[in-house]
Amino acid sequence: MTGRILPAGEARDSEPWASGSKTAAATLVLAPNPSAWTLDGTNTWLVGSPGSGQTIVIDPGPADLAHLESIVAQGLAVDSPVTVIVLTHGHADHSAGARLLADMTGAQVRAVDPEHRLGSEGLVGGEVLTAGSLEVRVVATPGHTSDSVCLLIESEGSLITGDTVLGRGTTVVAWPDGELGPYLESLRNLRELAGENRVRRILPGHGPLLLNPGQVLDGYLEHRRVRLDEVRSAVSRGITEPLAIVAEVYAATPKALWPAAEMSVQAQLAYLALEG
Ligand SMILES: [Zn+2]
Repeated sequence: MTGRILPAGEARDSEPWASGSKTAAATLVLAPNPSAWTLDGTNTWLVGSPGSGQTIVIDPGPADLAHLESIVAQGLAVDSPVTVIVLTHGHADHSAGARLLADMTGAQVRAVDPEHRLGSEGLVGGEVLTAGSLEVRVVATPGHTSDSVCLLIESEGSLITGDTVLGRGTTVVAWPDGELGPYLESLRNLRELAGENRVRRILPGHGPLLLNPGQVLDGYLEHRRVRLDEVRSAVSRGITEPLAIVAEVYAATPKALWPAAEMSVQAQLAYLALEG
């Protein structure tokens, strides 16, 4: 489950987002699960270099056999079979196919949350995974969920963000597991990596590539600041019921996404309560 909230009046991209090679090291296999919550579908990222004999699969997506077969075939086509499966977080639209893909490939599943692992190894911020000569750094980014991580392909500055940053719109803070304080901290950390030019493009968990990470992350931080001001203002006028706040603050958001908005509002209320 991901959820997103489209700002009013935001234009849709004209180019369809589709499977294929997106950077020198990253290839997209787009899962067939598009929805209001998942945009074009879940982005399954294959990271490696052709002929290296190793591919890291990031977010296998739903347990859709044809999709998982496409992932396996893509690895084999470039002589780099799937060797490890990594989850950016445990939401089902990213993780449900992991076990089946592990059965098909013999690869381990590495995840922050022990419940989603298959094999002995977890996933910890700061560690570096390898596929051939490629290095992929794990960046802990709790907030969307407590177990969210991003994966940084250091050599090309590509950051795979799961649901921490989406290709369009903004994401949900999936309260109570997700929390706003850690999310803002994660966004600031990523903004710093962009400022240092270590992050040069964003490969999101849903939707297209973003080539201006600094600007995108500034926009995310500003969006959170504005929303928080709006929620704070509602509370100061005695509106404290989460759904009533959603109706006011997220009036322009399609009602199908109000459950996501309600989670984000609850995350904001919890954050404001801590603020005192
Ligand atoms: Zn998610």
